[in-house]
Amino acid sequence: MPCMSDSSGDAASSPAEPGAVRERLAAERAGTSERIAALSREFDAIVASNALVAVDDEHDPEGSSTAFERAHVAALLAQARDHLTTLDEALERLDSGDYGWCAVCGEPIPAERLEARPTATTCLRCATAHPR
Ligand SMILES: [Zn+2]
Repeated sequence: MPCMSDSSGDAASSPAEPGAVRERLAAERAGTSERIAALSREFDAIVASNALVAVDDEHDPEGSSTAFERAHVAALLAQARDHLTTLDEALERLDSGDYGWCAVCGEPIPAERLEARPTATTCLRCATAHPR
C-alpha cells in the first residue's frame, strides 16, 4: 500500500507525535550543520586573512579587531556544535523511546514544552528546581 503514509492534514493537534518531532529535529539538525559549515568557512577566512596581514604589526588596531572577530566566530561555532550534539541526543532518545520523558522525575514532559524546546530533557518543574 504505497499511498497510505502521506496524509499530512490531520496531525496538527498532537505536537509530540514522534514522526513530527523527528522531522523537526532533523530539519533543525540540517540547518545547524549548514551553520557550522558556514561558520567554519568564515573562521578559516579570518585566520587566513589574519595570517596575511599580521606579519609584523602586532599593535595594529586591525589586528585586535580580527582577533575579536575570530573569537566571536569561534564562540558561535562552539555554540552551534553544542546544539548539534543536543539534537543528536534528542534523536537518539527518540530512537530508544526515552524522548519526551523527564530525565529527573520520569514524568512525561508536557507537549507544549517540547514544542517550545524540542531538545528538552526535563520537565519545566525539574528544570526550574535543578538548573544546570
Ligand atoms: Zn521532571
